[in-house]
Amino acid sequence: MINTIDLLQDLIRCPSITPSDAGAMDIVENALRHLGFSCERMVFGSGENETQNLYAKKGNGDPHFCFLGHVDVVGVDGQNWDYPPFGAQIHDGRIYGRGAMDMKSGIACFIKALENFTFNGTISLLITGNEEDIPTYGTPAVLKELTERGEKWTAAIVGEPGGTEPTGAVIKTGRRGSLNARLSVTGKSGHTGYVRLAVNPVEALCDILNEVRKPLDNGTHNFEPSSLSVTTIDVGNQTPNLIPEMASAKFNCRFNELHTVESLTKLLDTRIKTAAEKIGVSYDFKTECMADVFICRDHHLPALVKQAIREITGLDPVESTAGGSSDARFMVKHCPVLECGISGQGMHGANESVAIADLDIQVRIYRRILEKFFN
Ligand SMILES: [Zn+2]
Repeated sequence: MINTIDLLQDLIRCPSITPSDAGAMDIVENALRHLGFSCERMVFGSGENETQNLYAKKGNGDPHFCFLGHVDVVGVDGQNWDYPPFGAQIHDGRIYGRGAMDMKSGIACFIKALENFTFNGTISLLITGNEEDIPTYGTPAVLKELTERGEKWTAAIVGEPGGTEPTGAVIKTGRRGSLNARLSVTGKSGHTGYVRLAVNPVEALCDILNEVRKPLDNGTHNFEPSSLSVTTIDVGNQTPNLIPEMASAKFNCRFNELHTVESLTKLLDTRIKTAAEKIGVSYDFKTECMADVFICRDHHLPALVKQAIREITGLDPVESTAGGSSDARFMVKHCPVLECGISGQGMHGANESVAIADLDIQVRIYRRILEKFFN
């Protein structure tokens, strides 16, 4: 018998801060081997980028259900924990530790749900050791290799924790994209006593940013309006009576399905260009896509998962696209995918913890999803 609590505690006790797996992958592999899964380690990258991945598979043919998860966790630097972050201590019905929510609990619950489950078709698990950082050598590398071998999936679930709502209240059917941008403005330096002889890049930058920050859209049926957050303004000028030559800023956009990386970059550049020309400054603008926007266009999988959650919890789950991105953005190119996991209130924070009662609910939700999928 698999004990979900023991399994989760074992996983939390591995300090698997990205991209180190610190033994966590061995624990997952051993548990799955006991359930009859064939396991393949797929290691990509080298040196400090080396990333452990696991692809485990059981059964044959269609339909093929895949579960995606990650054993890596974010660090605990600068956080004050009441209990050791890798101690997995239990207090008042909760297990404390980094990854208790995000997302070692999801992995433990899905493995428990597989116990004594008989089915016609294939079940696989793609578990990566790098989801929290830039996942070049994680899920996208594994999916590339597997699809080159001809692997195909019918549907997939990512076991990421949901929002701040109770377990089962939310499923994620998509995520916004993330675009980082850097804008530098060059003016003309000079004495603050002779402002007319200078062009102040700090003031110009602020004016341009005010134009750039205007609404990007009104949102869609699936997504809230895209947002833009200015994250830093850098001038570094130490002299109070000197107008500097240059000022730069960085901002991040969370964009919805109304944009592509290209169209959004063009929109921002047009706004910047218009404002900069009006003021009379030159500028340099660069963007980098951190994650593309995605949405699950399939209706069958969300309906199935929502019905399973209803039957277990009595809750009527809402479909959400809020929050950061997830590895579902890579899987969506191969099959319908959505995120279904435990309540995520407090993940990445100090004293991250999961209610033991939630583990039981999540196991039953996953089990019911599998039953519905294979019947
Ligand atoms: Zn996660």
